[in-house]
Amino acid sequence: MRRCLALLFLCLLALPLSASANSHEWKIKGSSYQMDIVLMERVWARLVKEMNIPVGIEPPPMIFDSSYPSDVNMAFVYSIMPEYIVPSHIAVSPRAINKKNLSADHFIWGIGHELTHFAFVMRDNGWKYAPYYVEKTKHHHCNREFQRITKALADEIWDAHHDDTMRAFLYGEVILVCEYSPD
Ligand SMILES: [Zn+2]
Repeated sequence: MRRCLALLFLCLLALPLSASANSHEWKIKGSSYQMDIVLMERVWARLVKEMNIPVGIEPPPMIFDSSYPSDVNMAFVYSIMPEYIVPSHIAVSPRAINKKNLSADHFIWGIGHELTHFAFVMRDNGWKYAPYYVEKTKHHHCNREFQRITKALADEIWDAHHDDTMRAFLYGEVILVCEYSPD
């Protein structure tokens, strides 16, 4: 199993128009957290467009995980070996769903960041769902394409709320997560 951990100060961290005809259920299993569904769908749709995600690929489930350490917000969790299989999902920590810690926009961007990890892994594996995945593209956080796309997701959020300060902060996260968590 591999966890791409989103550190608190680093990686604080739609219906896809082309990828699906039915709206995805954006819910965190095990939590009553309410997210901005319309904006989340927009962010997913932007990711679908940026990465040409094929029709039929759905986002992984989001699952509340109370065991996460206090400095981690969320993580994309997936298996890389047959000996240890865990269904792919985005784990969301207690810290992330406390709006005193993460604003609504910050939270949506964080999920978008994890979805970008998901899309990279799926693309590396021919967009085929599998029990475990081969890692081909390494060091996502410092990958130029990953950085460009996660900035584009910040732009998409900016386009909804025109919060210049938030966009600047999220751009900063893109740089910091490479610097402090390159893997
Ligand atoms: Zn990450």
